[in-house]
Amino acid sequence: MKNSLLKKTGLFCLSFFLFTCTTLPKEVAPLVYNGGRQNVILMIGDGMGLNHIKAAQAVYGDLFITTAEKTAEGEVTTYSLNALPTDSAAAATALATGSKTRNGQIGQLNGEAFESTTERALSLKMAAGVVATEGVDGATPAGFSAHTSNRDKIDEIFADQLASGIDLFFGSNIEYYAPLKEEITKNYAFIDDMNDLNLSQPKIFASFEEIPLNNGGSKKPTLAELGVKAIEKLSANPNGFFLMIEESHIDKFSHDNELLNALEHLKAFDNAVKAVVEKAAEIGNTVVIVTADHETGGLEYNGETKEQLSDKMYTRTRHSDANVAYFVFGTVDCEFPEVIDNTQIGNLCKSIISAGTQ
Ligand SMILES: [Zn+2]
Repeated sequence: MKNSLLKKTGLFCLSFFLFTCTTLPKEVAPLVYNGGRQNVILMIGDGMGLNHIKAAQAVYGDLFITTAEKTAEGEVTTYSLNALPTDSAAAATALATGSKTRNGQIGQLNGEAFESTTERALSLKMAAGVVATEGVDGATPAGFSAHTSNRDKIDEIFADQLASGIDLFFGSNIEYYAPLKEEITKNYAFIDDMNDLNLSQPKIFASFEEIPLNNGGSKKPTLAELGVKAIEKLSANPNGFFLMIEESHIDKFSHDNELLNALEHLKAFDNAVKAVVEKAAEIGNTVVIVTADHETGGLEYNGETKEQLSDKMYTRTRHSDANVAYFVFGTVDCEFPEVIDNTQIGNLCKSIISAGTQ
């Protein structure tokens, strides 16, 4: 992260502008992508702020996301259409569709549905997948697979997901999904055990007891393992694919101001990014974009060592309006400003998967 003083000044101006604006800017010009059509994998660390990454480096040393060779990196503004800070529903909508909405809404604004990258991929006969460490009814995975006026309408989200045509859903919350097995199996092969995973099945809905930090057996796979399996499944489509992968727990532990637990999950997310970027390089023609939906906890970091880290470094129990990071892995022919908006990530994903098709 270079030119930090310049950037801080710029960010201050942007924050001042946003605070003094009664209506937040809705449209941000899309980034211009000049390359050919590629697969896209979007990885979201829910609640992962810039200071979460710095604090994780104090504990774990170098992280893959910060040290691995990449095409671009910088910061992302996350405000929603009506609020500073955003919630996960509006942020997921921006990242999934390239359009801002009001907090609480999923994939739409006041009844007007936005096309998601997932839907664009399926309309182009590409494959699509959604992976999360929480249940796929969570706001972030829902943003990539549903349209609803309220993130709490999980029955509507579930119905949208079953009808979506998305090739795979991997997540946890088996208690919720096990009783719905009969409904799920009308459209999907339903599994709760990695030993039953058969990638030749056309559509797969997997729900596990837990997606833990370290492999806990076939009913408790890691996010890294699920990410790689998802790529194996989706890359069988000759037209390519779009895949969203979310680590959901950095946010949850940050709401509780439990720093070391949040950082453990950030490290597990970093492990998943490494596994996914390596797998993407193996199959080729695949871009991996890593970001967060928003910052959670207003975490402050002032060079503390591992021993000095404390839950008191959180300044709130809610989301903040702080910028988050973005990292781009793969070959992407595009000018990346140092600070971009979350809608620009959504639009870029759409541009990359549909380049040359329209
Ligand atoms: Zn949250």
